[in-house]
Amino acid sequence: MKNSDLIKIAETYGSPVYVYDAEKIVSQYNRLSNAFKNVKSLKLNYAVKACSNISILKLLNGLGSGLDTVSWQEVQLGLMAGFDPSDIIYTPNGVSLEEIEEVAELGVQINIDNLSILEQFGTKHPDVPVCIRINPHVMAGGNSNISVGHIDSKFGISIHQIPHLLRIVKNTGMRVNGIHMHTGSDILDVEVFLYASEILFETAKNFENLEFIDFGSGFKVPYKEGDIETNIEELGKKLTHKFNAFCKETGKDLTLAFEPGKFLVSESGYFITKVNVVKQTTSTVFAGVDSGFNHLIRPMLYNSYHEIFNLSNPKGKERFYSVVGYICETDTFGSNRRINEISEGDLLCFRNAGAYCFTMASNYNSRYRPAEVLWHKGEAHLIRRRETMEDITRNMIEVDLAGKKKEGPTR
Ligand SMILES: *Cc1c(COP(=O)(O)O)cnc(C)c1O
Repeated sequence: MKNSDLIKIAETYGSPVYVYDAEKIVSQYNRLSNAFKNVKSLKLNYAVKACSNISILKLLNGLGSGLDTVSWQEVQLGLMAGFDPSDIIYTPNGVSLEEIEEVAELGVQINIDNLSILEQFGTKHPDVPVCIRINPHVMAGGNSNISVGHIDSKFGISIHQIPHLLRIVKNTGMRVNGIHMHTGSDILDVEVFLYASEILFETAKNFENLEFIDFGSGFKVPYKEGDIETNIEELGKKLTHKFNAFCKETGKDLTLAFEPGKFLVSESGYFITKVNVVKQTTSTVFAGVDSGFNHLIRPMLYNSYHEIFNLSNPKGKERFYSVVGYICETDTFGSNRRINEISEGDLLCFRNAGAYCFTMASNYNSRYRPAEVLWHKGEAHLIRRRETMEDITRNMIEVDLAGKKKEGPTR
């Protein structure tokens, strides 16, 4: 997208505003499909939690994508967006048996990640095919907050528990039609991924009704210059080779599935904010914007890096800034950033704002969540209105407690 397009959107819809470039989502989808074009049956299930706007889901539906969901509500969004239940997989963690049953009833593919629920579900519904989430215990990437395959992780059934798992499957007579792994959001290394896939293939041999193997996600996208990016083309070549060999060896025509979130939408997103105040202190220059961790929490929650650039003064002299929010907490978006000279009123734009940004937004400080705009073929489409005071108070109930008339403070 051009800077002038982003500026125009901010002028039309106000700030702060999220903007998603549809073309980037489409090209990422096609890139991943192409990398695995030699797999006979490939299924890409977009991870809804990355960016769950119904218009984004519809765009992906049009591309032939399926969905990966983690809650009943995400499943409902998928159905509203027109997805067939059979194109949705549900991969919850720590949810109740009741919720899993409700989703299964819709005809959605269930993915179970612990032995307790597996035994209960299998006992009650032996005819409903289930996928099993395996934890292969590989440590992909360096940040333990977002690497979920290792030994201390709460996700998945440990490969060391396979004997117990097989006993449950046998005793209940349930049908396992898929196996799954998701090793976290930070796979740096194709070899680590391939190593984990070997574990999955070995496990897969135990299930005669298998229809698909789901390799989850964790594809890394660059957030700043020089960042390592998962080499999708190399992974495609190597994993396709292994997968096809496995199908041949076992005589099964399996589907290869992935659940990319970040890979499909991260780079499509821009978050535009306006500078309220430029403040010099003894140690730095702060640029305070009309947003905070209520709108974009990844820098504070995960120490994630989002590139920030000045839309309003792209040719200005570069200076060093700490970009901070307007929330009454320390909410630093980036310290010591080299940015073209910032004046009050300038529009600052964050890159990689497509994944885990709006979906993690809140109303903290009673602020409105921002608008969302989808940029498609040179046109801006508003896909979510900015909130209003009505949204803030929607579910609040004013109780007049006895004797506490509006007479000013008592105490
Ligand atoms: C979050 C999640 C994904 C998506 O991960 P990305 O790193 O965004 O690609 C895929 N599968 C499962 C089960 C998830 O929880």
